Amino acid sequence: MRPNEAVEASALAVRLDEWKRRAAECIDESSERLGELSRAIWSHPELAYEEHQAHAALTRFFASLPASPSSGAWSVQRSYKLATAFRADWKWDGASCSPGEASQAPPPPPPLRLGFLCEYDALPAIGHACGHNLIAEVGAAAALGLKGALESLRQSPGGLPRHAPAVKVTVLGTPAEEDGGGKIDLIKAGVFDSLDVVFMAHPSQEDAAYLPDIAEHDVTVKYYGKASHAAAYPWEGINALDAAVLAYNNLSLLRQQMKPTWRVHGIIKNGGVKPNIIPSYTELEFYLRAPSLRELSTLKEKAENCFKAAALATGCEVELQDGANDFYNVLPNKTLKKIYKENGKKLGIDFISDENLNELTGSTDFGNVSFVVPGIHSYFYIGSDALNHTEQYTAAAGSNYPTSFTLCEDLTL
Ligand SMILES: [Zn+2]
Ligand SMILES: [Zn+2]
Repeated sequence: MRPNEAVEASALAVRLDEWKRRAAECIDESSERLGELSRAIWSHPELAYEEHQAHAALTRFFASLPASPSSGAWSVQRSYKLATAFRADWKWDGASCSPGEASQAPPPPPPLRLGFLCEYDALPAIGHACGHNLIAEVGAAAALGLKGALESLRQSPGGLPRHAPAVKVTVLGTPAEEDGGGKIDLIKAGVFDSLDVVFMAHPSQEDAAYLPDIAEHDVTVKYYGKASHAAAYPWEGINALDAAVLAYNNLSLLRQQMKPTWRVHGIIKNGGVKPNIIPSYTELEFYLRAPSLRELSTLKEKAENCFKAAALATGCEVELQDGANDFYNVLPNKTLKKIYKENGKKLGIDFISDENLNELTGSTDFGNVSFVVPGIHSYFYIGSDALNHTEQYTAAAGSNYPTSFTLCEDLTL
């Protein structure tokens, strides 16, 4: 490193701390408005792909942020690729150089494209029991913080590297995490090709820069039998409920040979219509999970054999209907994880120890995102030990909000 490079590096380090402080200040300045946004989403829980009010609240939020003369407003695209997805972009033009320098300067580097992901879908019957209203809130907050820090640079650019790239900040509204996988739809639509790094954070029982979210395959199993009077001539029937019960038991027997990190869980959605009719149709829904796509494929084959064996034993026909999208495991990004923890510790966050990181969590469509663009999916504690997907967590995810909800009232929902 040459001497003036060393001076530039130390000036940059000092300025970096200032910019982080400014980002935090900007978030604090907007805390009431952000809380109202979150409360608006929490108060109107909507299921996957039906998050119309949350979509309206978020897009209205970004569209109504005041534009500054120097940096402009957020450009908001409603129903971006999906009815309830959105995109909000804001661009910082980079380090400016004097007109004399500009003529000799090399062409500017391409802009750095940073994406903050919001989720906002809820669960049936129990509302925001996964706290996705908080994911929306922290995604919006992080983007506002970064924008504020970059705007402060415009006023006082000292310490910047000479040819700092422009920065494009994107907030991406990604619906349907709990069912379907909206991010996978957006990957297929090419949306993530326009981002260099993505960030999101999920509420949890602990603070963690990374938890091992695992791969998931969903399957609906349909058995077709033949109805008959269950007392008068049951031998004329083919019992589709027997097939469903056998399938359930086959999987239970398989568990002894399953790895401890595999998960198989399901329900019988349709078990027949009346005890005196031999059921002619039954339907089960199962989720299969494993830490990697390779193991998931092994587990899938074993589970499918269980389903098919039940059909063979009972004489039923079986139809296996795969879910729309498989969720991939989340790939850890060591660099982002390290930086996240360093910054978090400075803010007083007490992270879960690495020994406990082997505990499995759930699955998320962010896993698929981590296969196409570098990113981080961290977890944050919300002051409650309630578990996700419980009514207690719904209450925790909706607590500590301001009592006046002016944004809710303002919103054209
Ligand atoms: Zn969830
Ligand atoms: Zn969730």
